[in-house]
Amino acid sequence: MTAALTTTMREGGVAVVTFDLPGEAVNKLTRGVIDELRALMDRVDSDSSIRAVVLISGKPDLFIAGADIDGFLELRTAAEAEALSREGQEMMNRIERLRAPVVYAIHGACMGGGLEGALAAAYRIATDHPKTVLALPEVQLGLIPGAGGTQRLPRRVGLRQSLEMILQGRNVRAKKALQIGLIDELVHPSILLDVAVDRAAKLGEGKIPRERPRAVHGMGDVMLEDNALGRSVVFRKAREKTREATKGNYPAPLAAIDAIEQSYLGDRAKGFATEARLFGEMAVTDVSRQLIFLFFAGAALKKDTGVGEANVTPRPVEKIGILGAGFMGAGIAAIAARAGTVVRLKDAEHARVAKGLKEVSSILREELKRKRITRRQLEDQLALVGGTIDYSGFAGATIIVEAVFEDLKVKQTVLAEAEAAAAGAIFASNTSTIPIERIAVGAKHPERVLGMHFFSPVQKMPLLEVIRSKASDDESLATAVAYGKKLGKTVIVVRDSPGFYANRILAPYVNEAGLLLDEGVAIDAVDRALVEFGFPVGPITLIDEVGLDIAGKSSAVMLGAFGDRMVPAASLAKVIEAGRTGRKGGKGFYKYENGKKQGVDETVYPLISSNGQRMLIGARDIVERCVFAMLNEAARCLEEGIIASPRDGDVGAVYGIGFPPFRGGPFRYLDTLGIPTVIRALEVLDGRFSPRFRPAGILRDMAASGSRFYPDREKPR
Ligand code: NAD
Repeated sequence: MTAALTTTMREGGVAVVTFDLPGEAVNKLTRGVIDELRALMDRVDSDSSIRAVVLISGKPDLFIAGADIDGFLELRTAAEAEALSREGQEMMNRIERLRAPVVYAIHGACMGGGLEGALAAAYRIATDHPKTVLALPEVQLGLIPGAGGTQRLPRRVGLRQSLEMILQGRNVRAKKALQIGLIDELVHPSILLDVAVDRAAKLGEGKIPRERPRAVHGMGDVMLEDNALGRSVVFRKAREKTREATKGNYPAPLAAIDAIEQSYLGDRAKGFATEARLFGEMAVTDVSRQLIFLFFAGAALKKDTGVGEANVTPRPVEKIGILGAGFMGAGIAAIAARAGTVVRLKDAEHARVAKGLKEVSSILREELKRKRITRRQLEDQLALVGGTIDYSGFAGATIIVEAVFEDLKVKQTVLAEAEAAAAGAIFASNTSTIPIERIAVGAKHPERVLGMHFFSPVQKMPLLEVIRSKASDDESLATAVAYGKKLGKTVIVVRDSPGFYANRILAPYVNEAGLLLDEGVAIDAVDRALVEFGFPVGPITLIDEVGLDIAGKSSAVMLGAFGDRMVPAASLAKVIEAGRTGRKGGKGFYKYENGKKQGVDETVYPLISSNGQRMLIGARDIVERCVFAMLNEAARCLEEGIIASPRDGDVGAVYGIGFPPFRGGPFRYLDTLGIPTVIRALEVLDGRFSPRFRPAGILRDMAASGSRFYPDREKPR
C-alpha cells in the first residue's frame, strides 16, 4: 500500500513530512495513518540528525479533515470509545514531547484531530486564504474532542474562546485564529512551506522557544479567565446558555463544558482522563449515533448519481437560464454564480429584472461580509449574471430553471418559449405543488423536463429535491443531480407526485397543528411542544413564515390529491379569510413589529373558535398527533416509491424541513420507537379521528414481520 506520509530532508536537519492519503479526497487520521505517524515519531526520536519536523498537506486546499469516523457506529461500549480517545491523546502527547519540535504548516481546513495535533505541536502557521479554517466540530456529531482538544485549547486561546469554538463547532478563519492565539503566524500560501522550514530550523536551534506564554487579551481575561471566581461565572453562564439552546436534547456540549472545566483544576492527568471518559460516554449515545448516521448518509448522497446503475454521463453545465427573477429565481441565480456558472436571468419587465439582480448582488455580498470570499471573487461572480426580458443569451444554456408564478398556464407558456430559445436544454421547474407531468403536457421534449425543487431561502437551505417525471430521461436527471451538488446542495431524487416528498410529509403535520387549534388548543402550546421535540420552529410559526395564503393553496392541492386524510383545518381558512397573510403582511397567528415576531396575536382566537373556549392538552399528545401524522406519511412515500430509500427520506426531512437531527429522521425515529408501538398509537388515534391516522400498509407489514428500516448499526450507503 502506498504510504500517506512522505518525508524529505531540508537543510538544517528539518524533516518535511507531506500528508497525502492515497485514494481519498481528504486527509483523515485512519488506523494506517496513525501507525505511520507512530513509526515516523520513533524514527525522529532515534535519529539525531533530525532537528525539527514540518507537517504539511499534499491535498489541494485541505489540511486534515479529522479522525476517521468510519468505525464509530460499531463502537459497542463506552469503555471501547474511551480507549480510542486515550489512544488519540497519547499520540498527541507524543507530538508534544517529541525530541524534535513539530511545526504544523496549515493550508485548507484543519479540523478535529487535525487541530488537536496542531495544538500539541510546537508551532502553527496557517495561510491567509478563505479555504483555511480551523475547527473542533465534534459536537456536531454528538461527541466532544477526544484527543486532548478540551485540555489544550483553553491553554492556547483562553476560556471564552475555547467554549465558543468547542460548543458551536464552528469554523475559525485563519486571521481570527491569529488574533485569538490559536496559530502563531499567518502567511501567503506561496511561502507557507519556506516559512515553516525556517521556523522549524529556528525551533530546532532553540532560537524560538518551544514553550511560549499565552497573550493576555485585555481586562476580560484578567477579570473572568485568570481567577477561579471569574471562571466559575463563565462556566455557569455557559451551562445556562447551553441548556437553553439544546433543550436537553444534545448532551455533548454540556459534557464538553465539564471536560474544559476539569482542565482548569490543576491535575493534568485527571483532565485528560475526564475528556476520555466523557468522549466514551458521548460516543455511544443515541444522539451521537443519529448525527453520525446523518453525516454518512449525506456523504453517501454526495456519491449518488441519482440514476442508480444507469450508465449515463451528466452534461457539463457552463451556462443556465433562469425564468422569473423573483424571490426564488434570484436565490438560484446567486448560488449558480457562486458555483461559477454563467447565468441569464429573465423576467417579464425590466424593473423586476433589476430587482432580481439587486437581490443576487446582496446575497453574494453577504459572503464577502462573512469573509468567505474575497472582493475579487465577488466581482467575478457578479460578472457572471446578466438580466434580460427576452430570451437573449439563452442559446447554449444546459439547464433552464423555471421559477415564475405558481400558475400552470404561465409555466406551460414559458416552457414552450424556452424550448424554442434554448434548443436541447433541460427544463427544470421549481414548482412547489404542480406535477411536472402537467407542466410538460405540451413539451416537445418531455424527456428533458423535470423538477429542481429548491427550498427557501435558497442560499441557506441545504436540500434540493430533483423531481423525476415518468418521461424524464436518465441523462437529464443525472445532469440535474450533478449540477445540484455543484451548487452545494444535498440532492435527493423524488418521484413526481403532489407535494413531492418534503412538503408532502409536512402537510399532515402542519394540518394536525391546525386541527388542534380548531379544538381550542392554544397557539403557543402547539408551537412550544414541537420546539421542545426538536423542530427549529413550531408549525404555526412556520406557516406564518411561509405565508398563510401559500399554506392555504398548498393545503387545497393536498386535499385534492389525497382526499379525506388531508382535510384542512378550519382555523387556517378562517384566518386567511380575515385577510391575514403571516409575517409578510405583519399579521398572522402571531404579532409582528417591524418584521420581528412578537407574542401570539390574541385577536386570532375569536376568529377561529366560536365559543372562545380554550382546551388544555398535554405536550405529549400534541407531539404524538403532529409527529405521528408525519411519520405515517413518510412511510407512505416510501411505500409508493416517492423516495427511493429510508436514507433519502431521513436526509430529506432533516435538511428540507428541519426534522430534529438528533432523532435521525422519520425512518430512524420509527426504528427507535419500534414500528409495533407506532402502529398501536396510530390505531388509537385512528379510532378517534378516522380516517386520517390509518397506518400505512408498509408499517403494518413491517410490524408483522418484525423488520426495521435500518439494520442495526449499519453505515448507510
Ligand atoms: P415570486 O413571485 O417572488 O417570483 C416570480 C417571478 O416570476 C416574478 O418576478 C414574476 O414577474 C416572474 N414572472 C411571471 N411570469 C413570467 C414570465 N412569463 N416570464 C418571466 N418571468 C415571469 O415567486 P417565488 O416565491 O420566487 O416562486 C417562484 C416559484 O418557486 C413558484 O413556482 C413557487 O411555487 C416556487 N417555490 C417557492 C418557494 C418559496 O418559498 N417562495 C419555495 C419553493 C418553490
